[in-house]
Amino acid sequence: MKAMVLDRPGGRLQLTDLPVPEPGPGEVLVQVHACGVCRTDLHIVDGDITDGRYPVVPGHQIVGTVVAGNGEGGPENGTRVGIPWLGYTCGTCSFCGSGSENLCDSAQFTGYQRPGGFAEYTVADARFCFPLPDSYTDDQAAPLLCAGLIGYRAMNMAGDGQRLGFYGFGNAAHILIQVAIWQGREVYAFTRPGDDAGQSFAKRLGATWAGGSDARPGVELDAAIIFAPVGQLVPLALKAVRRGGSVICAGIHMSDIPQFPYADLWWERSIRSVANLTRRDATELLELAPQIPIRSDVQSYALARTSDALDDLRAGRVSGAAVIVIG
Ligand SMILES: [Zn+2]
Ligand SMILES: [Zn+2]
Repeated sequence: MKAMVLDRPGGRLQLTDLPVPEPGPGEVLVQVHACGVCRTDLHIVDGDITDGRYPVVPGHQIVGTVVAGNGEGGPENGTRVGIPWLGYTCGTCSFCGSGSENLCDSAQFTGYQRPGGFAEYTVADARFCFPLPDSYTDDQAAPLLCAGLIGYRAMNMAGDGQRLGFYGFGNAAHILIQVAIWQGREVYAFTRPGDDAGQSFAKRLGATWAGGSDARPGVELDAAIIFAPVGQLVPLALKAVRRGGSVICAGIHMSDIPQFPYADLWWERSIRSVANLTRRDATELLELAPQIPIRSDVQSYALARTSDALDDLRAGRVSGAAVIVIG
C-alpha cells in the first residue's frame, strides 16, 4: 500500500510502499477513504512533539471502511468508521476508571504511537472506531474527528456562558462556531492582526464580532478558547474575559506563555488546557453534528500531496479544513 512516512523529526513525509498492516487482537483493518490534516500532524512532522519512535505514518482524523479484523464487539466488516486521535487506553488506570480516559497513563495516539491515516490502509483498536452519520460524505466527516472533537471538549470546558471568544479562526473554530450559534451563543473571533480574510470568514459563519487578537470587542467575554498555538494569546485572552471567566487552551502544543501580572488572573479567572478526547466526547459530537448540521469548508488533496497540505496549513493558506482524499 502507499503511505506517507516520516522517518525523523523535522523531516518531510515520503510517499512509500509499505505492506498492508495486519490487525492484532482487538484490532480492525480499515481501508482509508479520507484523513483530515490537523495542526498536531504539523507538530509531529516538525518535531515539536515526539516520543522518539520512527518511522511514523501521521494522520488522526481517519474515515474508512472496516475490511478485516478481530475486534470482538467492534464494528463489522463493511462499516464506515471514524478513527480519532485517542487510539488506545488501558481501561484499568485511575483515569480510565473515573471517566477521564483522555488522561490515561498508557494512552496511545493515532498517527503518533499508532498507525495513522495518511495511507491506503490502517489498523485501529476496535473500541476506538466510531460509526459515522450517513448524511456525511468522507471529506465532510474527517474534520469532525479532531478539530471537531477536541474543539467540542474545549467548548464544554469553557462552560455555558453566552459570549465566547475564539482565538485563532482555523479548522476547529470554523466547526465550533456552528455549534455555539446553534446553542444560541455569541462568538467573538480573534485572528492575527490584519488578517482581513480570516475575519470575514468568521463573520460569514456568524461571528458577532471579528478583529485582531490585540483588539477588544467592547464587551467582556464569559470564556475564551485559544485554538492557535501561540502562548502570547493567553494573557491577552485573560484580559478579555470577565471575573470568574476561563481561558481554555485547546492545542496539544503552544509556544511559551509570557509573564503577566497576577491581577490579570485575579477574580477567579482560570487558565486550563484540554487534553485529547474521550469516547463519550466522540459519541456526543457525532450525534449532534447532523442535527445542526455542521458543514466544513474543505480543501482536499491527493495522498501524494500530503506535504503540500501541511505546508499550506503552516503558511496559513488553509481556511477551514485540509483533507487528504485517498483512492
Ligand atoms: Zn488508563
Ligand atoms: Zn488533531
